[in-house]
Amino acid sequence: MKQLVRTRIAPSPTGNPHVGTAYMALFNLAFARRNKGSMILRIEDTDRARSTSESESAILDSLRWLGIEWDEGPDKPGKFGPYRQSERLEIHQSIVGRLVEQGDAYPCFCTSERLNQVRKEQIANKETPRYDRHCLNLSKEEIEKKMDRGDPYVIRMKVPQEGECIFTDELRGEVRIDWKQIDHQVLQKSDGYPTYHLANVVDDHMMEISHVIRGEEWISSTPKHILLYQQLGWDAPSFAHLPLLRNPDKSKLSKRKNPTGIFYYRDAGYLPEVMLNYLGMMGYTLPDQREIFSLDELSESFDIKRMSLGGPIFDLAKLKWLNGRYLREKLSEDDVVERLIQWKLNTTKFKNILPHALQRLENFSDFIPLTEFLFNEHPEITLENLIGKLDPGQAAKLLKICEWELEKVKNWHRDEIFCLFQDLAKTEEKKLKEILPLFFQAMSGKSISLPLFDAMSILGPDLVRVRLRKALGLLNSEGVGLSKKGLKVLEKEYQQKYGNRID
Ligand code: GLU
Ligand code: ZN
Repeated sequence: MKQLVRTRIAPSPTGNPHVGTAYMALFNLAFARRNKGSMILRIEDTDRARSTSESESAILDSLRWLGIEWDEGPDKPGKFGPYRQSERLEIHQSIVGRLVEQGDAYPCFCTSERLNQVRKEQIANKETPRYDRHCLNLSKEEIEKKMDRGDPYVIRMKVPQEGECIFTDELRGEVRIDWKQIDHQVLQKSDGYPTYHLANVVDDHMMEISHVIRGEEWISSTPKHILLYQQLGWDAPSFAHLPLLRNPDKSKLSKRKNPTGIFYYRDAGYLPEVMLNYLGMMGYTLPDQREIFSLDELSESFDIKRMSLGGPIFDLAKLKWLNGRYLREKLSEDDVVERLIQWKLNTTKFKNILPHALQRLENFSDFIPLTEFLFNEHPEITLENLIGKLDPGQAAKLLKICEWELEKVKNWHRDEIFCLFQDLAKTEEKKLKEILPLFFQAMSGKSISLPLFDAMSILGPDLVRVRLRKALGLLNSEGVGLSKKGLKVLEKEYQQKYGNRID
């Protein structure tokens, strides 16, 4: 019997839904549909410290907005559930137990101090940092003694010392990687949760995934996965590693250079079908070279072998151009009106905004100028207004620190943003009201608009970040912002005063 095609996307719910997730989802879906198979959505939340349920719902919402549908997932029970890895802990632990029993995995009691020390030495000797197999040959007695004492431990996988791992990538053909290069990967952390590698393989097998279509950053992990399949006596799925999206300078697409959040594009007023079309045309060309195509059209003839291997460049100008074409060529005027209403010109949105605007309204014509920045992708800002009474260098620093600090906000809500600014002012030894005009300007280009924290909460993290960056960009382009060196100094200072950055 021909094997059914089952693909999956496996996002980790650790932040804002990323366009890279949409990109992978699109091709997984096109491949599944083309082969009359299914696509599964699995939430990989084994990193307990970083996973949040807000992020999980945001991922689902963002994919739904794009029109990406999955056949099984946390919200769509199927016979291979649960589809959230944190609910599969017992399965993962029992498989780890099996690997230990078989002698394919072993406990490692090394402290992080020891591991750091080893790492430092390896780097000093110009070796690739990796686990030195210190605990590989502990005796049964030693292991028991340590466990009885309650010493914390992880479980690591055993990797052959010699030979190479050979596998076929559907796009690249044969890939060979020396086993020597493969680390003795941790399979189970000291908190008892599996790592990505273990959980991913176990779940792909149990969910009967036939094709793993994922980003090329995972190629170097594939030998670990193949080895696990072998050790467990399971057939491995087919692998296809797709090229990652890139910034115009060819670096990996990052929010430092481009908005990467799916919601940025929704909130800035792009059409979901344009996003899909654009993501599609970045990695793929239809046989007839057509540029405008829908998900259905892509799926109809999709041939994964036609995926291009060059790093596709995410170009905002091209996306904008395509969006314009859709508005004029694909939608009727009635559709456009309907879409505008759906976007932001609706009761829900207005009810959200009005309470913050009411104080400042005298008649209705005040409403538009007052709130215009909430509907505008790039409100205009001027250097003079932006800086106000601040020293430009100081303004630049504040903008950058604010951008970093906002990454730490877990619940994007007015009160949390307010606390952040209070702390920011205190740490920078300024009064809140001294620093607020800068951010007012950065957000709205105006000195009078809605209360800042409410405005930021309505705009959402993606639009806010882009505005902070634009304001800083303006200072930099006038030569009064942060130089490369200045940025480095600031990063150090930031780390000391605020702790580690997240991005
Ligand atoms: N959880 C992984 C991620 O967030 C999934 C990678 C894979 O598809 O194997 O990218
Ligand atoms: Zn060890």
